[in-house]
Amino acid sequence: MIFKEITASLYPWDLHDEGVDVILDNLQNYSGVNAVYLVGLMHYEKRPLTDYYYPHNPVRKVFFPEDSRIYWQLHPEFYRDSRIKPLTSTRDFLKDIDWLELLIKSGEKRGLRVGVEISHTIVDRLRAKDEFPECIQKDIFGNRLGQILCWNNPDSRNYVLSLYRDLASNYNIYMIQTCMILFVNRRLPDDWRGIKSEWGTNLINTDYDSLGQLLSILLGGCFCPVCQKKAKDKGIDIERVMSTVKLFAGALHPESDFGSPETFHLRNLLKGSNVNVTEILLEYPEIFDWIRFRCDSVTELFKDIYDTIKSINPSIEFRYNTYIPNSEVSGLDLKLVSPYLDSVRCSDYSEQSGSKEILQSRKTPWLLNIRRQIGDEKKFISAIGIRPKATPELIKEGVKISAFCGADGLSLGHYDGATFANLKAIREAIEENYIILQS
Ligand SMILES: [Zn+2]
Repeated sequence: MIFKEITASLYPWDLHDEGVDVILDNLQNYSGVNAVYLVGLMHYEKRPLTDYYYPHNPVRKVFFPEDSRIYWQLHPEFYRDSRIKPLTSTRDFLKDIDWLELLIKSGEKRGLRVGVEISHTIVDRLRAKDEFPECIQKDIFGNRLGQILCWNNPDSRNYVLSLYRDLASNYNIYMIQTCMILFVNRRLPDDWRGIKSEWGTNLINTDYDSLGQLLSILLGGCFCPVCQKKAKDKGIDIERVMSTVKLFAGALHPESDFGSPETFHLRNLLKGSNVNVTEILLEYPEIFDWIRFRCDSVTELFKDIYDTIKSINPSIEFRYNTYIPNSEVSGLDLKLVSPYLDSVRCSDYSEQSGSKEILQSRKTPWLLNIRRQIGDEKKFISAIGIRPKATPELIKEGVKISAFCGADGLSLGHYDGATFANLKAIREAIEENYIILQS
């Protein structure tokens, strides 16, 4: 078995607090990484995410980053034509430092390749609400979907391409990874078909059957005026789509404006019967048109990003990090998008569930499904959860599963929350399974 890459994600505050050389020493010595990447545009999320406090940060116990800031040097000329501009940090210890350049310089000295990630949200919630509300996705009720940009909106599109143009033009990086949230899918009511949904390790749709996943799409986005017009221009009967979606939204949320005795009756029939996805798509083909439209929109977006990067520096990989299993719920048809991706990362962190059963039942099917979609030749990177409650034993099992499922490398998530014993388990697993690391 051959791996081409073992990489790990780092945050700017990690580099500040622990020191970049200490971190790279640890990752190289304990885990044998041959690449690292900076989360260069980070959303608003408590760190460390899955534990109360950091295991080895010498400066602080916990950190709350600002909402959707970039941590590379802002190059304003790349955003001159963009209505939305990126925000930089205002924290004293983070601002005015090009954290990406700093990591690149340190990595180069050690022969490590350095990449960058654009994470889930690329515009902060405050400006999304106050300055760019029309750029944000809308659900069928007309509600704004948080801070998630609509990928058919020209201002959103212009902004996201500017980010990639900036990174590809100004940095000697081997890849740009993103796990941007694409089209939103929403959680179903808690009592959906007897499933008590839990805030699991990192998953929003794993606990649903495929009908539940389909319905979660209908509660999501986007039904903004731009999407409505674009769908109509493509020959989709958008009025019919929306009236069907309102029917199901009323069934799922009888208390809403679309609720009625009829939708309440439908709700009970959906919950109580053995209805399946095929039947729903046969009865309401407009739902399929809608799902196809979302996927086509995402594919166009990815083609634009890919072409942008390649026109500037063809050697930079464009990598998508699938942050949920069955990612068609977010509008991602991996088979369709595959020509515009150099590599794909599966974001399964089930090692951190602490359970071998959960690890085996979640990781294998997710990996195999991505491999099926992208084909056998596309570079495929498997994430390994290295944070507690992951244990060395579970990590070794995760590495073995990854190799078994045809992964070409590993991506450790995330250094900030990992114990050193967990970091060491990566190198041990490589050695014990005779995996060759081929740079
Ligand atoms: Zn839209």
